[in-house]
Amino acid sequence: MRKQQWGLYIHIPFCRQKCFYCDFPSFAGRERYEADYTDALCRELLDQGVLYREKWGRPATIYMGGGTPSVLPVKLMERLLQMLCRIFALTENEDSPELEFTVECNPGTVDAEKLALLHTYGVNRLSFGVQTFDDGLLQAIGRIHTGRQAAETMQLARKAGFQNVSMDLMYGLPQETLAMLQHDLEAMVALKPEHISIYGLQLEAGTAFAKMQELGKLMLPDEETVEQMYDLMTSFLPAHGYARYEISNFAQPGYESRHNLSYWQDVPYLGVGAAAHSYLAGRRYANGTDIPSYIEAMRAGKSVRVEEEPADRAIAMEEFAFLALRTVRGLSREAFSKRFGVSLESVYSKTIEKMKQQDLLEEQDGFLRLTSLGMKYGNVVFEAFLLT
Ligand code: SF4
Repeated sequence: MRKQQWGLYIHIPFCRQKCFYCDFPSFAGRERYEADYTDALCRELLDQGVLYREKWGRPATIYMGGGTPSVLPVKLMERLLQMLCRIFALTENEDSPELEFTVECNPGTVDAEKLALLHTYGVNRLSFGVQTFDDGLLQAIGRIHTGRQAAETMQLARKAGFQNVSMDLMYGLPQETLAMLQHDLEAMVALKPEHISIYGLQLEAGTAFAKMQELGKLMLPDEETVEQMYDLMTSFLPAHGYARYEISNFAQPGYESRHNLSYWQDVPYLGVGAAAHSYLAGRRYANGTDIPSYIEAMRAGKSVRVEEEPADRAIAMEEFAFLALRTVRGLSREAFSKRFGVSLESVYSKTIEKMKQQDLLEEQDGFLRLTSLGMKYGNVVFEAFLLT
């Protein structure tokens, strides 16, 4: 067996309600599939999880995301966790520094019993979708919980023994003001999560918000306000002990998400479940999104993993550059030439020069990284790195 760092992603596509901004592969009203889906996941894990364990050893990170994994009833969640323990020899109550095991949860879908279960089976990191503490805003974006429930869930998590908790926040929400964001940031740091992810609202095609926008019914803050919100969050969080390590991610020292970092650092990962993506031996794969088809295929012992169109060399270079530039560590010249057999300079010399002149990019110890201005206008830099 050749030891290789790798990550495991498990997709739970169920949600209680579809949030108005969300274009993730997640579905409301499909509770009837939850039990069969969990069985199907166990089958895929027994097949693919075991295969990669035998090849590479235990994954360095396990991430259960969605959707809302925490909507799974306790019995089903336990079945899934037992399977993971069996395959990867996780021991009960393990809090191994070698394994980061995250489960995404939404306030309003967890209680003390469910949190205790997760902790018992070795989950050592929780990621809560909070988005805002303002009940009016929560309703306006289609969330099912209140701000108070988010705070209570955090207390329950601490009581259950979780010492590594992440919270997601959004800004630029309908009719949100700068003062409302200030309040959200204060409420969030008061809860002392170890990690904070913060995203500006993006209007994605096919979402309820995109339709409202078409009908002229979505009142978003203007560009100038959104820019002020960005400036507020990028100054507020570091001032409260959260260092930025990626465009949208901030953490207390030592609490950066190892699973997410591995995505940005070209580490292979296996994705199981409907709509899960995998990156194995330099190739990208996707499982089909349809839940009943996934269940049927797993029952029949078939795979639903399809190799995605292999990215041509130029696209692979772009992706490599974008992903690394999102991180504060930046894009390693050495890693680029090792991966592509040519120097970064030979491909991007003009772009690098131009971005440096515009104070969007800087360089230190063989790493190119976004300046703080570059972080703010990341899209300008990413566009400049396009080769196709
Ligand atoms: S809970 Fe998360 S995955 Fe589910 S609809 Fe809302 S944003 Fe999407």
